[in-house]
Amino acid sequence: MAQHFSRSKAFRDFTSDDIKRMTERSAWEFFCNARWGSFTHVGCPTCNQVDKHYFIPSRKQWRCKYCGRVFSVTSDTPFTNCRLSFLKIMELIYEYAHAPKGLSANEACSKVGITYRTAWQNLHKVREAIFHAQNRVKLSGYVQIDGCHVCGKPRRGRKRVKMSSEIINNHLKNRKANIVPNRYPTEKWNVEKLKNRRIVLVLRQIGEKPGDGGVRSITCILKAESPSEVIQAVKRYVAPGTVIHTDDGKAFSSLNSLGYKHKTVRHSAQYSTDDGVNNNQAEAFFSRLRRAEYGTYHGMRPQYLAFYAAEFGWRDDMRKETMKTKLISILSCVLRSDISFAFRRYGQGHRLCFEYLG
Ligand SMILES: [Zn+2]
Repeated sequence: MAQHFSRSKAFRDFTSDDIKRMTERSAWEFFCNARWGSFTHVGCPTCNQVDKHYFIPSRKQWRCKYCGRVFSVTSDTPFTNCRLSFLKIMELIYEYAHAPKGLSANEACSKVGITYRTAWQNLHKVREAIFHAQNRVKLSGYVQIDGCHVCGKPRRGRKRVKMSSEIINNHLKNRKANIVPNRYPTEKWNVEKLKNRRIVLVLRQIGEKPGDGGVRSITCILKAESPSEVIQAVKRYVAPGTVIHTDDGKAFSSLNSLGYKHKTVRHSAQYSTDDGVNNNQAEAFFSRLRRAEYGTYHGMRPQYLAFYAAEFGWRDDMRKETMKTKLISILSCVLRSDISFAFRRYGQGHRLCFEYLG
């Protein structure tokens, strides 16, 4: 069996030893290179002029030759006005990029030596930047699609009810169709909890060569796995004429009539048909997302679910890249995006009051 890339020597081109050897100056240079590809010729965030602006060494800032604005490497990015040192941010992003199934703020705060609140807020800013940087150009060629129920897990009742085979069969038959399964108690608090249930829809383009696996993923959040919502998302993110493989869910049944070459695999009978129809790459994505939900984050809130889904899309797409490439990819996403909308002024009570759906 071929060795997984993450266990090869080529993967380990940037380790914790490199972080330990870094100084504040070299971490800052790493930031500049990730943002502008240089730390001498830099771009002004206001007038976008790339030049050798007037450097103020004591403050690691520049004054723009054209508009006079004083700026730093983190100006107008999610880390604007961040009081953490560059070395600490590097450490945080290194730990985040390194963790195969996500990094919880609880773990990050002890590893990096920052407070829980700082770790939570900054990790979410990174996720938000990855979400906004996700390549949403239409997928083509061969695409696998599936949906997964996340958030709003209801609690079971205080008393255990023996399940008859009839109830279990009924549940299995209807589990995709019913967003509110019947077997859970219908107390008020449980019904409220179930309102938080969302569908993460993943659309993964598969490489042309055998063994390539998923090469690009697009994730989106739906309120239900209904035909109308799923088809709207497929039309938005998949080019006509694409070969689409899905399971036999009702939501996908009309894709053939919309100009796609749709094939299904019946999961109650098999995971791959004799002629190779499967959606195992989409299932693999959910396998990692589910382990992160239960094992790392212990729950995700619906208003931030789009960020978590994008994080795992990024992790899957970057699985064959080296450690250093991953680090630069995250830093470029963060340093090239705008000031965080969802988490700026979080400490002053500002909250995201809508969800990124579709
Ligand atoms: Zn300027």
